[in-house]
Amino acid sequence: MKHPHLFGPVNSRRLGISLGVDIITPKTCSLDCTYCECGVTTNLTSERKEYVSSKEIISELDDYLSKKPVLDYITFSGSGEPTLNSGLYKIVNHIKTFYPHYKTALLTNGTLFHCEDVINAALQFDLVAPSMDAVTERSFRLINRPASDISLVKMLQSLISFSHKYTGTLLLELFIIPGVNDSDEELAEFKNSITQMKITRVQLNSLDRPGTEKSVVTASPDRLKQIAHYLAPLPVEIISRNVLKTVQNSGPIEETEEKILSLIKRRPVTLHDLSILTALPLEQLSAVISTLEHKGEIKRTAVENNIFFQIRT
Ligand code: SF4
Repeated sequence: MKHPHLFGPVNSRRLGISLGVDIITPKTCSLDCTYCECGVTTNLTSERKEYVSSKEIISELDDYLSKKPVLDYITFSGSGEPTLNSGLYKIVNHIKTFYPHYKTALLTNGTLFHCEDVINAALQFDLVAPSMDAVTERSFRLINRPASDISLVKMLQSLISFSHKYTGTLLLELFIIPGVNDSDEELAEFKNSITQMKITRVQLNSLDRPGTEKSVVTASPDRLKQIAHYLAPLPVEIISRNVLKTVQNSGPIEETEEKILSLIKRRPVTLHDLSILTALPLEQLSAVISTLEHKGEIKRTAVENNIFFQIRT
C-alpha cells in the first residue's frame, strides 16, 4: 500500500525520529509566512474542513504502524496548517486508542486555538509546538500575512488560555528575522506575552534553508544567544541543526528516488540532511539527486554556504 500522506521517518532536529503525517493539501494555510519552506500559500483560509479524508489517513496509518516501526513521534505537519483539517481529532484519537505506545506531536501556527474542536484535538497530543513570530500587528502583517479574519490579539489570548489547560510538552517556536521582529520593543512584547503562558520551553529559530522571500535573512548564532539571554529566566533553547540520530533505511533500493522526492517535496534539504534522513551513502544519494535534477524534478539553491535541493515548480 502507498502512503501519500505519510513521510519519512525523518530525523527531526526537534523531535528525533519522526513519522510525518500531512493532512492538508498543498499549500493551504491560515498564514502566508515570508519564511515558509513550503512556498507561497495558494489557499489562504481559516475554513476548517476535511482537506484530506480522515478515513484515508487512518487507513494509511493502520497499514504503516502494523509493521511496528521504531519512532520517537508521529508528527502532524507538512503542506500547510494541520488544525485546518476538521478530522484532526478523529485521527489523533485513533492513534491514541489503537497505538497508545506512540507519542504524537502537533506542529501548528497557533491561529485556530479559539476553536473548541481544535483545542480538544490539541489536548490529545503528547507535544504541541505552536509558532509565534509576532506580537505586534506590524510584524504579524509583515511576517505572517494572515487570512483576513485571523486576529493577532485573539490568537495570543487563545494560546495563553490553551497553555494553562494543556498538560503535555508545549514548545513555543519563535522565528527570528533580523531587522523585522528583533527590536528591543518587539522582544519586550515577546517576553511579556510568553511570561503569561505555561510553556515547557521557547525554541529560538531562524532561517537555515530557502524560504518564500529572499528578503528574509538568517540571525547569527551570537544574535540568537543575545535574545535567549534577554528572555531569561524563561526556559529558552536555540534549535541547532546538529542534534541528530541515525535512521535505518529498510526500504528496497528502487523506492529511494520516490522517498527522496517525498522528503524534498515537504521542505528544502541539503545532501547532508538527506544522508541522515535516509541513512544512504553519499555516492548513492548524489547519483539519485543527479537523476532527479536531470529529469527536471528538483533544483538546487544556495543559502549561506549550503546547497539546498527543492522541488522545481
Ligand atoms: S510557515 Fe507554517 S504557518 Fe507559515 S505559511 Fe508556512 S505552513 Fe503556514
